[in-house]
Amino acid sequence: MMRNLLCMTAPVRDGFDIPCHEIGPKSSHPAVALVAGLHGDEINGVFILSRLADFLNSVEAGKYPELRLVKRVLIIPAVNVLGVNLRTRTWPFDKSDINRMFPGSTGGETTQRIAYAVLEATKRAEYRIDIHTASADFEEIPQLRLYGPSAAERTTARMFGLQAIMERSLSPVFTTTMMHSWKVWPGESFVMRVGQAGTVQLGHCQRVFRAMVSFLGQTGVLEGVQLAVEDEEVCCFDKESAFRVFAEKAGTFVSDCQVGRWVRAGQELGYIYDSFGGAVIEKVVAPVAGLLTGIRRHPLLFEGDLIVRVNRKA
Ligand SMILES: [Zn+2]
Repeated sequence: MMRNLLCMTAPVRDGFDIPCHEIGPKSSHPAVALVAGLHGDEINGVFILSRLADFLNSVEAGKYPELRLVKRVLIIPAVNVLGVNLRTRTWPFDKSDINRMFPGSTGGETTQRIAYAVLEATKRAEYRIDIHTASADFEEIPQLRLYGPSAAERTTARMFGLQAIMERSLSPVFTTTMMHSWKVWPGESFVMRVGQAGTVQLGHCQRVFRAMVSFLGQTGVLEGVQLAVEDEEVCCFDKESAFRVFAEKAGTFVSDCQVGRWVRAGQELGYIYDSFGGAVIEKVVAPVAGLLTGIRRHPLLFEGDLIVRVNRKA
């Protein structure tokens, strides 16, 4: 069932709503809560969750007789609905970042009311997942992020079968994120980062869609899931495993490398060209042997810009 999580009025136009899907057997709280589009230009997550809602609605309608949804799933595909329309990361009216407005309040400004409504709807779920992307200039491998994880979260993280799990401590600085608000509640919380902002990367989205179905199957939320076992290894990376290359010179960076590939130390990953003369002015090589987890996609570089990130296997 699709309903409105929050209905709001706007000063000089029609009101607008934040829609959500509630799918599966009725219960006091959802077993799984899935959120995307806290940032309006992060389209991969919006696409993945809208497709997943369509799939689970089809399961409910009996189109997949071998599958049965036994617990309730809440899906909010696009929290920043206006940002998605206008292709902006922040809330268009006041440029505020919704993921810095948690836990929010009922009487506050619009983004605080949005944060409050999203938190109320999701905080009691057994599993909570918030999907993001990197910026529009940088592409990241589809990855699961754990923040100060419990043993249970570490175990569940592997059920997605994504190539990379990144572990971080919970930031003492950014305490106004949704993840921070989720963490005080029982249950398990995850962030996914998928590709880059401003576009739909079909390969990444399909991989994450499969990861979601695998997770729903293994947690027993969706019965009857049979996915072919992927031979891809799941690697867990901590902060210290990341090695970055920054531009030593300004120029045009071009690479045909794909994220998610294992690279050798010293392997060529791309070139920086003189933007007008066209000559190669710097060869960009892998700083260590490891997994290419992030690469710059905007070609125009300033000195000091991040170009690639390689994570070394523990
Ligand atoms: Zn984001």
